Amino acid sequence: MKIPFAPPYIADGEIRAVTEVLKSGWLSMGYKTREFEEKFAEYIGVKYAIAVNSCTSALFLCLKAIGIKKGDEVITTPFTFVATANTIVHCGAKPVFVDIDEKTYNIDLEKIEEKITERTKAIVVVHYGGQPSDMNKISKIADSYGLRIIEDAAHATGSCYENGKRVGSIGNLTCFSFYATKPMTTGEGGMITLNDDALVERLKILRLHGISKDAWKRYIDGKASWYYEVVDAGYKFNTTDVNAALGIEQLKKLDWMNERRKEIALFYDEHLKDLDIILLYMNPKMKLSFHLYPIRLNKYNRDKFIIEMVKKEIGTSVHFIPLNLMPYYQKACGYKKGDFPVAEKVFKDIVSLPIYPQLKDEEMRYIITTIKDILEVEHE
Ligand SMILES: *Cc1c(COP(=O)(O)O)cnc(C)c1O
Repeated sequence: MKIPFAPPYIADGEIRAVTEVLKSGWLSMGYKTREFEEKFAEYIGVKYAIAVNSCTSALFLCLKAIGIKKGDEVITTPFTFVATANTIVHCGAKPVFVDIDEKTYNIDLEKIEEKITERTKAIVVVHYGGQPSDMNKISKIADSYGLRIIEDAAHATGSCYENGKRVGSIGNLTCFSFYATKPMTTGEGGMITLNDDALVERLKILRLHGISKDAWKRYIDGKASWYYEVVDAGYKFNTTDVNAALGIEQLKKLDWMNERRKEIALFYDEHLKDLDIILLYMNPKMKLSFHLYPIRLNKYNRDKFIIEMVKKEIGTSVHFIPLNLMPYYQKACGYKKGDFPVAEKVFKDIVSLPIYPQLKDEEMRYIITTIKDILEVEHE
């Protein structure tokens, strides 16, 4: 039985929707993109959604839009995909890492304040695996120091905070990923959600070459449509109608996909709970996307475990290698091994198991049997 780690779930609806766009004669950003943005905003429960070509682009645009620049510091977690930190670097700023808490693997709320300086401008909050961070506490800290918050919700599409509201709805700039392995996919893609009327135009202008539509509207007055003004050196970060058509279909089944992932997580929990390993903490008051199902192998050797799983043709992955262990971040920002003991400890024995809607019951059982075989053999 060959079980890949995270294949996308694509059905006839997606194929039909993409074919329609291909036949329509309009492939780039157009009406489909607008429809996707409107439907996504409605689903999240937020005023605006701006579609872009990746979550990385979304993060960078948000940092730019709030004015992050050379000399600034931005607080985030080292236990994330590198895009979270790279985008801070791209603005000329320094990512200031704060260790994680060992239960949720999210940024440790108790350790944020000690890293705040007069150069600190923002906090980029990552909702690890789709488990929302405590935004009440983070907002309080941000408010008292006048910091902006950007949420990296690459894992958390469809997750809800403790108050029942969806991640992305409470008014912070929030960035989603529609990369092929994420809770829903458009192949490549991302979305920014926000309620802020002032920032929405700025983000749209930066998304597409710095071109202002307002100038265009002022000028045409119903006469010409070729005129535009460039008000900033913007970027080329738009999505396409092909991707948007995929997104509209995926959004329809997102809640179902997340529910199915939850069933799988509960199955894993039930069947692994007697082993001497650390299971995923699931906050019972929250709704989670279950983007990841990481376990910690405790005294078993993680690297050996992955090799054994490969032999049985079961895909796994590691989320994440702490960024302070990366050569670039050591060289450019002076981080070193040992800086973030909790993230490094968790990294050492963590491994993510397959969790996706089309995973069959017999495959889940095979995964469990294989894990037990490997761990028990190794244990002797
Ligand atoms: C995947 C991921 C990103 C980047 O998403 P892309 O859409 O691939 O740019 C950013 N942050 C986290 C935490 C991720 O897992």
